[in-house]
Amino acid sequence: MKSLKTFSVTAAAAMAITAGSAFAACEGVKLYDVSGGSFVVDRVGTPWSLVVPQQIIDHPRGLVLFDTGLADDVADGGCEAHWGEGLCQYLQPQWTRDDVIDRKLQKLGFSTDMVKYVIYSHFHVDHAGNLELFPKATHVVQKIELSHAWWPDKYFRGSFVLKDYDDARDFDYLELTGDFDLFGDGCVTILSTPGHTPGHQSLLVRLPKTGSVILTGDAVVSADNLTGTPPGYTQNLTQSFDSIERIKMIRDAEQADVWITHDLEQYEGRKHDEAYE
Ligand SMILES: [Zn+2]
Repeated sequence: MKSLKTFSVTAAAAMAITAGSAFAACEGVKLYDVSGGSFVVDRVGTPWSLVVPQQIIDHPRGLVLFDTGLADDVADGGCEAHWGEGLCQYLQPQWTRDDVIDRKLQKLGFSTDMVKYVIYSHFHVDHAGNLELFPKATHVVQKIELSHAWWPDKYFRGSFVLKDYDDARDFDYLELTGDFDLFGDGCVTILSTPGHTPGHQSLLVRLPKTGSVILTGDAVVSADNLTGTPPGYTQNLTQSFDSIERIKMIRDAEQADVWITHDLEQYEGRKHDEAYE
């Protein structure tokens, strides 16, 4: 039998969700959406330009970063020295030094040293490229993603660049095995969404005015994945479908906005110079 306390907390949460926006417990939490460059992939013979956003979450108990973008070493023509010729020709990154996350933080009045947690959707080159810029942070990643990133499955190895994190073995890692509520208040919740990679994770951010936002990472690669089109690049399609269903269930339950990482049209429709509150 539920205790009265459990019931009242659950009822309050349900009311907040029904209201469709305000999460009073998340008062003071802000979300910034930043990006710069892009890269290109081949999609059934057609070049497809992908934007590379990262999100900064200013929580009263610490500054949080979701993904770190392409490595600073890739910027301004440095690609071949860092990635090698093959990957550079395949992805054709458009990436300047000002596109790198440390400069994005500075522009908003933050610094790399102020970041308490860096959360990674996964360890592909376009998401974990600047891990080594944050030696003082705690790095939040699924345990299986860490071990896989160091020795990826043979046919997916090209998307992981060991140089992005081989000097960071002694950093502080929060090694997860599933979901995790980062501050214990429901405002920044890591969702396990495997498939694209074995330890892929998405992020549910609850904001006092905006309501819920799901940062999909690459669990959803393009908007049509939400209506049944299989994601084109995934290590485990069954897991990917389950993860997409999970995101849709949370979207519907919380009336959440779903931010698809690489969706250029979506990105251009959002604001970038001020916070979502
Ligand atoms: Zn990606």
